[in-house]
Amino acid sequence: MTPWTRLAEVLAREKLDALVLSGLPNIRYLTGFTGSSALLLATRQGAVFFTDGRYRLQAAEQVQGAKVVVARGALVTALLFSVKRRRLRRLGFESRRANYDFYAALRAGLPGIRLRPTAGVIEQLRTVKSEDEIVALRRSVRLNSAVFEAGLRQVQVGRSEREVADRIEYLMRRRGGDGPAFETIVAAGLRSALPHAKPTHNLLKKNEFIIIDQGVILDGYSSDMTRTVALGGLGQRARRVYHVVLEAQLAAIAAVRPGIQAAEVDRQARMVLQKHGLEKNFVHSTGHGVGLEIHEPPRLGRREKTRLEAGMVITIEPGVYLEGLGGVRIEDMVLVTALGCEILTPTPKELRVL
Ligand code: ZN
Ligand code: ZN
Repeated sequence: MTPWTRLAEVLAREKLDALVLSGLPNIRYLTGFTGSSALLLATRQGAVFFTDGRYRLQAAEQVQGAKVVVARGALVTALLFSVKRRRLRRLGFESRRANYDFYAALRAGLPGIRLRPTAGVIEQLRTVKSEDEIVALRRSVRLNSAVFEAGLRQVQVGRSEREVADRIEYLMRRRGGDGPAFETIVAAGLRSALPHAKPTHNLLKKNEFIIIDQGVILDGYSSDMTRTVALGGLGQRARRVYHVVLEAQLAAIAAVRPGIQAAEVDRQARMVLQKHGLEKNFVHSTGHGVGLEIHEPPRLGRREKTRLEAGMVITIEPGVYLEGLGGVRIEDMVLVTALGCEILTPTPKELRVL
């Protein structure tokens, strides 16, 4: 089934005449358009794609499955015209993607028409990847791992976190990526205890943890990987924490299979940490979906009831953060398969001492 047929089913189920899409990743998913100005009106009978004059050629080349309208003025004005002309009565819009001005323009321009907020309709379709998407994700993961290996040579005493992160991002582009999927994290020493540290001008020192969390975008598809390394040897406690996190990560991966609840995968990681008295130091969820966006559903959190399905691509990334010592996070991308899962990330996970 194509995404369009699945979308038509959703519209019928939700009793909507059409869905107005303003989220660019969702529009890209359905039509293939990679530009930055677009709206999509998806009706049960077909779809209309709106862009502005800058994207006339690109839209003609890329857009599949929808009629292309190049708007002279505001895209929303062209969209309103199209809704009225088609006499659509019940319209869904993306409540998490539309901004207030866009909603206000719909509301003011469509008197008497029911506007229903919908959330995550296309995101839901996107959770299970197509064969082509899995190929693209594999390539993105491979590039990210190759960049990581090359980047490790840049991890040297006396360089700043910022400098190492910049060099990694340079390598991403240099080796054919579109760019980083998020701001690369290089967090050394005590700063590795911050789960979402921003690289600073602090210099790397010996005998400390360094967390490197990086992802590249290749042909629109993101990858995501974290490794924790050290420059020179680490104390016994630090090494013990590393091995506990690795054990938690492997336990979560071992649980990944179709039908399991996302919360259960998360629980497997937490149980290992609990055994070692470290579960309170794991302050985020175990993972998330990855695709056209770096963070997509499903979330692998404590209360996520979503059941995993074959074709989902997720991260598994438990971490432990200890104030005054540092942090460890280990993150792989994993493909849910018919029988279990396949770890996509080829980078080794034993503690690397550089
Ligand atoms: Zn990450
Ligand atoms: Zn991640």
